Amino acid sequence: MLDYVNDKIQDETRQGEAYAPFAGDPTVYKKRFYIESYGCQMNFADSEIVASILHKEGFGATRNVEEADLIFINTCSIREKAEQTVRKRLTEFRKLKEQKKGMLVGVLGCMAERLKAKFLEEEKLVDMVVGPDAYRTLPGLVEEAEGGQKAVNVLLSREETYADISPVRLDSNGITAFVSIMRGCNNMCSFCVVPFTRGRERSRDAESIISECRDLFEKGYKEVTLLGQNVDSYYFIDEQNDEAVTFARLLERVALISPLLRVRFSTSHPKDITDEVLFTMAKYENICKYIHLPVQSGSTRILQLMNRTYTREWYKAKVDRIRQVMPDCGISSDIIAGFCTEEEADHHDTLSIMEYSRYDFSYMFFYSERPGTLAQRRYEDDIDEDVKKRRLQEIVAMQNRLSQESNRRDLGKKFIVLIEGDSKKNAAEWKGRNSQNKVIVFPKETYNVGKGDYVEVEVVSCTQATLLGKIVNK
Ligand code: SAM
Ligand code: SF4
Repeated sequence: MLDYVNDKIQDETRQGEAYAPFAGDPTVYKKRFYIESYGCQMNFADSEIVASILHKEGFGATRNVEEADLIFINTCSIREKAEQTVRKRLTEFRKLKEQKKGMLVGVLGCMAERLKAKFLEEEKLVDMVVGPDAYRTLPGLVEEAEGGQKAVNVLLSREETYADISPVRLDSNGITAFVSIMRGCNNMCSFCVVPFTRGRERSRDAESIISECRDLFEKGYKEVTLLGQNVDSYYFIDEQNDEAVTFARLLERVALISPLLRVRFSTSHPKDITDEVLFTMAKYENICKYIHLPVQSGSTRILQLMNRTYTREWYKAKVDRIRQVMPDCGISSDIIAGFCTEEEADHHDTLSIMEYSRYDFSYMFFYSERPGTLAQRRYEDDIDEDVKKRRLQEIVAMQNRLSQESNRRDLGKKFIVLIEGDSKKNAAEWKGRNSQNKVIVFPKETYNVGKGDYVEVEVVSCTQATLLGKIVNK
């Protein structure tokens, strides 16, 4: 995961990533599909569901777009820039389509949901428009499109969780995996398009989550990240075990699969994370001591306009509570600069809450008005772009300082690190993460360890983004 981004989307390293087929897959497929994903981790997880559905229908994946009969682009609407990136990519697909007769192009995900059939008018090359709750109908839609019709399904569902679909892992390192535990969002943060593009919140069957995690562990995975827009409001009535499963209970059940399986989760809404969750995290060593707790703004007045339902003081008290229960817990945040009516004083409140919370890293954005959101309907997007950008720069500078300070505090400390693979820059070094989600790079030396192993590493130096260490115990 990248430390911070300015107006870019979540994990920058993965934007536009193409689905990778299994190595040496011997199956002969009738057609090849190519799928490229943008946006948040939920979208990447969804592409794995789509891949699974298409595989069952006899379609094989390719990473080579020119070889594909079907091209899918799984889109993000969160900021205008994200949508522009997709539009640009579509123009590149146009050329390919002109060269290859019968090639079909489908738009999936949030942008498909937001624009619906309008997409077909705006982007003539698009053959299929499929919303995030309609992936089961993809095979039928492909058939329709093959018959020369434009195919659209953007129906949102109150039930769909794809619980029974076991996702085919996308570009996997074989060690860490994302597992969706819920879909949609019932919060109405005024800036956010997600409730409109991904529909009402629903929790996935707890048993299906546990069995997916167990299966991953049995296949050699060592870390699962439970995903949802607001994981702390997970709630499922497990009739089989006669139990109401809260997020804390789900965490515990996943943690109990094996002490060697690390458990992470994202995202926590500050209003919903409970003491029960904090105590469960503290109780199990294999639940990672890291919480992504987006603040969005440090000003109570702006938070109210954002409809975040907490105040500055409430948020600070939550940070205090986390540190009280788990003094070693890493905390990160999402921050928006230049929301409607934001004054310098509000902006300074944001800088000071960052300092108070001592974030290890943050995802930082400037406000981008999204059509149909509460903010777009109620407030004027009245902060000049250069002011938004200047404030964002100040926020980034603050975070750089905080990240550096946080890394310096780790010097001399020892951490258990899960090795994820070779370091990007040097094949003589391993790259892994500690429980707090910080990346640590360290020399392989002559130790007989590899991907998926846990090692104890002492931090010997650091950059702003990475800890550098040496193995002290394997
Ligand atoms: N559900 C999560 C939460 O509540 O924190 C994350 C949702 S969203 C996919 C990720 C982040 O994008 C948000 O936390 C917010 O900081 C940012 N974001 C959402 N809408 C935005 C907008 N209109 N302009 C700028 N940033 C936005
Ligand atoms: Fe958007 Fe707020 Fe829901 Fe997060 S909690 S997805 S920011 S509406």
